Amino acid sequence: MRIGFIGLGNMGGGMAACLARAGHDVRAFDLAADALAAAVQAGCTAAASAAEATWQSAAVITMLPAGRHVRAVYDDAILGHAGPDAVLIDCSTIDVATARAVGSDAAARGVLAVDAPVSGGVAAPAAGTLAFMVGGPDAAFAQAQPVLAAMGRAVLHAGGAGMGQAAKIANNLLLGASMVATAEAFTLAMKLGLDAQTFFDIASQASGQCWSMTSYCPVPGPVPAAPSNRDYAGGFASALMLKDLKLAIAAAHDAGASVPMGAAAAALYQAFANMGGGDRDFSAVIKLLDGSWQQ
Ligand code: NAD
Repeated sequence: MRIGFIGLGNMGGGMAACLARAGHDVRAFDLAADALAAAVQAGCTAAASAAEATWQSAAVITMLPAGRHVRAVYDDAILGHAGPDAVLIDCSTIDVATARAVGSDAAARGVLAVDAPVSGGVAAPAAGTLAFMVGGPDAAFAQAQPVLAAMGRAVLHAGGAGMGQAAKIANNLLLGASMVATAEAFTLAMKLGLDAQTFFDIASQASGQCWSMTSYCPVPGPVPAAPSNRDYAGGFASALMLKDLKLAIAAAHDAGASVPMGAAAAALYQAFANMGGGDRDFSAVIKLLDGSWQQ
């Protein structure tokens, strides 16, 4: 299948390479020449513009930083150049309002479109562990599903346009707040004299059990694969968690939802970013709480 791929950064580069490995004819475009060169090295064909990547492609995927980039690329290149049988797939994490607007603009032109943000970090495309949360009409989901399935392990239909983004930011609000609470609990337990492994063994069998502890423990030791064992390098950057929390808070404001725990988590991640921790894994917020953070 001919697939246009626009935005070949940390995530998009790996995802486009996945599609090329699966035998698709990937027409790739990025404003950054080095990102484009890496995609060509991975088996994609360079397109001269986003419009050229879109032209005659059966699916057009975008993986861009934020809503304003998606809006601009859709307006300048995609909506005017996509064929009537194409499916448009935006995998970026963006605000719900822009995702809905882009979906309805595509629908007005008779083109199928979905928002399909991903869960999983930069290693996930190569490992085949990406999960997609998809918003859009049934017909668009059906057409996007096999394309997304070639890049990950799970493709879940969340509802109509924008619902993929809604699922993603609500999940990450829960994750951010639960990581802060997990980090607080370990800080308290250890300051009271409990050994970290002992507290882990007890709490992971008790009612405090949660993913942030049992799969991603912010204290080194109990979960060997967690970034805490590698000085919080790699993983899911605190700056990206802050971005998702801000999206969740803005969406909550629009929807009239009360999210005080998410707001508290966002304030802590903002403080951590201001102190130079933005590029560390989001579990490193424990170093802000226990006072051991040094840049
Ligand atoms: P990135 O900054 O590494 O990549 C974005 C790419 O888009 C860059 O290469 C940039 O040159 C390109 N770009 C920007 N404007 C463009 C335009 N007009 N035309 C063509 N290319 C353009 O970002 P990333 O880490 O790959 O993240 C992409 C999206 O995925 C973001 O929305 C992010 O929130 C989300 N996400 C990231 C991760 C992660 O771990 N990095 C995980 C899940 C979701």
